[in-house]
Amino acid sequence: MSTELLSNFLGGQWQAGRGAGSALFDPVLGHELVRVDATGLDLAAGFEFARTQGGAALRSMTYRERGAMLAAAVKVLQGQRDAYYEIATANSGTVKNDSAVDIDGGIYTLGVYAKMGETLGDRRFLMDGEPARLGKEPLFQSQHVQVPVRGLALFINAFNFPSWGLWEKAGPALLSGVPVIIKPATATAWLTQRMVHDVVQAGVLPPGALSVVCGSSAGLMDALRPFDVVSFTGSADTAQVIRSHSAVAARSVRVNIEADSVNSAWLLPGHAAGSEAFDLLVKEVAREMTQKSGQKCTAIRRVFVPESLYADAAQAIGARLAKTTVGNPRNESVRMGALVSRAQFHAVQEGLAHLKQHAQVLYDGSTQALVDADPAVACCVAPTLLGTRSAAGSDAASVVHETEVFGPVATLVPYRDAAHAAELVRRGEGSLVASLYGSDSQALAQAALELADSHGRVHVISADVAALHTGHGNVMPQSLHGGPGRAGGGEELGGMRALNFYHRRSAVQASTEVLSALG
Ligand code: NAP
Repeated sequence: MSTELLSNFLGGQWQAGRGAGSALFDPVLGHELVRVDATGLDLAAGFEFARTQGGAALRSMTYRERGAMLAAAVKVLQGQRDAYYEIATANSGTVKNDSAVDIDGGIYTLGVYAKMGETLGDRRFLMDGEPARLGKEPLFQSQHVQVPVRGLALFINAFNFPSWGLWEKAGPALLSGVPVIIKPATATAWLTQRMVHDVVQAGVLPPGALSVVCGSSAGLMDALRPFDVVSFTGSADTAQVIRSHSAVAARSVRVNIEADSVNSAWLLPGHAAGSEAFDLLVKEVAREMTQKSGQKCTAIRRVFVPESLYADAAQAIGARLAKTTVGNPRNESVRMGALVSRAQFHAVQEGLAHLKQHAQVLYDGSTQALVDADPAVACCVAPTLLGTRSAAGSDAASVVHETEVFGPVATLVPYRDAAHAAELVRRGEGSLVASLYGSDSQALAQAALELADSHGRVHVISADVAALHTGHGNVMPQSLHGGPGRAGGGEELGGMRALNFYHRRSAVQASTEVLSALG
């Protein structure tokens, strides 16, 4: 018996693809859940509908009205949370706490942008800076304005955050007055499709404001026009395809890229084993390695400790990882579920084998049996901690600084002194986030600035914030998300800054009287 084929929502209509579709699976039990297909969709017409109908309707509203619209969408989503958790368990293989990061994290982020609409008030564009006089007299001046782009926003998303990945982008876009077309990663498209379905059916958005295309990405980039924007999250390889597509290269479609990242945690020098800073690092590393089975773009992949603490840190992190029960997320005793697919399972095994050629195994969770799951079927991978043995080994092990294994895997990297640690961190060639652990505010502040140019976010954990910090890998809408270099060079969130991507800046040069008439 074939499973349900999920519909696409494009051109203001629910439309089924004309092909057989690609199957989505339960990564723990192994059976097929639903199918997705985008064959035969008229993408050009659907995109035009979004631009003309959705865009015009959204731009006719004020920021406050659009904020209220997002608040209504938040209510709809909150009302269906149970269904979303069921889909996440089935399709992502995540335990409840990990599903929450995606589902509730997404709804919370949308809520933050809903509230921002109130702050921006009854306006339809944004002033950018003060008027600047263009001559001796202050009569003829230049005023920069930011107006919503008159295209659409295409989101091509990764498999690991089917909810958050949608709403962290759609919140700022819709608040800006820009219609959204979301193409979720096939492996986990169900949750995205269901959330779009619920919001569309509730009628809280104007027609054309939100569309979803599930299945193949073929033709999506070809359908973009010069005033559209595209935001991509995924692998560096696909990022390269997007960047070099003629829509970007020849038609100047604005592009934002969030790619992979070899993130760091750094225990500053001068702390003993068992000190508060040491313990905070250990706790955070174990949490980051296991949350969502390590399938977070922001997860800690490299752990920097003074050479003298290598053995202690290995022992302490290993002891924490040993408490992580792995298996079927439906079993209450399980702390860590599965990877999302067979393909990811093989990719992680391959990446791990590659890293093992250049690092020693310090903790191997695979010696423990899976709980309630068949190892021949379930895409479960136990946590593994590797290490580069010595400071000299950390220099030599280039692979450790270059390889992102998208699973519960991290490498302990001993360093000689602070300068050596900073140099090693930078060998990640640009990351989303680094976290610092220490007790000396001056030293922490200096290290934060030292890493700021190569990181989108520096998360500093000292004893005074131990109980209230938001977590190394948690992306808060108030802070920038994105990173330079191999992390893709993109910028998302960061509070109001997120709106920049969905607005066009223009300088209006006019008399002071005309400028004051702008409103
Ligand atoms: P991926 O294979 O690059 O896929 C990402 C998206 O691109 C999917 O929706 C995919 O669709 C689509 N796609 C594939 N080929 C395409 C093409 N030729 N043209 C247009 N779209 C295309 O990446 P992934 O394996 O899903 O994601 C894992 C990676 O994402 C990791 O490396 C992780 O670090 C990164 N990531 C980064 C962030 C961040 O914020 N920086 C967040 C999450 C994940 P299909 O699924 O249908 O193939």
